[in-house]
Amino acid sequence: MSTYISSVLQKLVYERANRCCEYCFFPEAATLASHEVDHIIAQKHSGLTKADNLALSCVLCNKHKGSDLASLDPETKKLTPLYHPRQDCWSEHFQLNGAEFIPLTPIGRVTLRLLQLNRSDRIKERKLLLEAEMFNVPS
Ligand SMILES: [Zn+2]
Repeated sequence: MSTYISSVLQKLVYERANRCCEYCFFPEAATLASHEVDHIIAQKHSGLTKADNLALSCVLCNKHKGSDLASLDPETKKLTPLYHPRQDCWSEHFQLNGAEFIPLTPIGRVTLRLLQLNRSDRIKERKLLLEAEMFNVPS
């Protein structure tokens, strides 16, 4: 579903995210496809088009996330919310080990799996970005 998002709000989202995907931290400058403004809580779940419900997302993360809010944790088998870039602290849920994301919590596990953040091609491109000093995760 595409929604009108004012240019002021789009600018805020892009600048707040430093033009990097807020799920995988891929910089827009390193992709051919423009990043997208994602509704963290999708509109079909009554999520609003407001700054605190928007995140910058690369095309891949946005495609895998879709309108999902949660997934089943493979370890606990419990329904677990996805990482919320506005409310959750990245380093509490994930760690960077080389070019790989390591989940630290159930939220980390379901998000890594659903968004396929450790797929081999994604790790390969992250490695290249690290070597080019174009990749950072929040501390
Ligand atoms: Zn991404």
